[in-house]
Amino acid sequence: MGAERTPVIAGNWKMNGLKQDGLALARDVAAGAGAYRCEFVVCPPATLLAAASEVLVGSGVHLGAQDCHAEPDGAHTGDISAAMLVDAGCSHAILGHSERRADHGEDDATVLAKATAALAAGLTAIVCVGETEAERDAGQALDVVAAQVAGSVPENATAANTIVAYEPVWAIGSGRTPTPSEIQAVHAHIRSAIAGRLDGGAAAAMRLLYGGSMKPGNAAELLAIEDVDGGLIGGASLKAEDFLAIAQSCP
Ligand code: PEP
Repeated sequence: MGAERTPVIAGNWKMNGLKQDGLALARDVAAGAGAYRCEFVVCPPATLLAAASEVLVGSGVHLGAQDCHAEPDGAHTGDISAAMLVDAGCSHAILGHSERRADHGEDDATVLAKATAALAAGLTAIVCVGETEAERDAGQALDVVAAQVAGSVPENATAANTIVAYEPVWAIGSGRTPTPSEIQAVHAHIRSAIAGRLDGGAAAAMRLLYGGSMKPGNAAELLAIEDVDGGLIGGASLKAEDFLAIAQSCP
C-alpha cells in the first residue's frame, strides 16, 4: 500500500439486512470506526440507505449504494438515479459488480454510463473489475481487467472521485483468493491501464481495492500488498466485529 494513499475499507452488504439488524450493523460500525486510520464505506441495500445515513451522521463512515441508473430521471420502473442516492445520504456507489454484470447483463458500456452518472451527481464511483475462473485458467486475467478498466472507468475519473476494485469472480464468496503475487500483478496492471486512460498522476494516487473472500484471517497479508489500497468486503462486512478486524489489519 502506498503511504500517500489512504486505505479504504468498504462493505458490500448485497441483498442482506432488514431494518433492525441492518441499522444495528451500521450503528456498530459507526461506533468502532473512529479507532482506525482507514476510510470506511458501508453499502447497505437501497431500502436501508436513508435510515443508515441518519445512523452514520458524525461517524465519518461513508454511505454507498450498490448500483445506480445511468439516467437522471424518467420512466425506469424500479431503478434509482445517482441524484436520488445523494438525496438519501450517499457519497459513494458501487458500479459494475460482477453479480450485476452477470445477473443484469451489465456490460462495460453500461457500467461506464452508470459511473459517468454517479460522478456527475457528485458520488465517488467504486468501479468493479475482475476475471472469471475460465478467463484466469486461459491466462487472460490481465487482458480482461485492462479491457474492463478501459471500458468502464469514465474519462473524467480522478483519484478523488473514483476507486477501482479488483474482484476475481471466482474468489467472491468462495473462500479462495489469488496469491499475493497474482494480486499484485493484476493491481499493477490495473494501475498502468488507468495511467493509459487518464494520466500517470491520477493512476498513482487512485485507490485500488482487492475484493474476494477477504476476512480477518487473511486481511493482513492481502492489505500488505504494494498496490492494494484497501478492500471491498462482502460476507465479512455483515458482522461489525469482522469488518472492523479487517480494518485493524491496514498497515
Ligand atoms: C463482493 O462480492 O464484493 C465480495 C468481495 O464478496 P466476499 O467478500 O463475500 O467474497
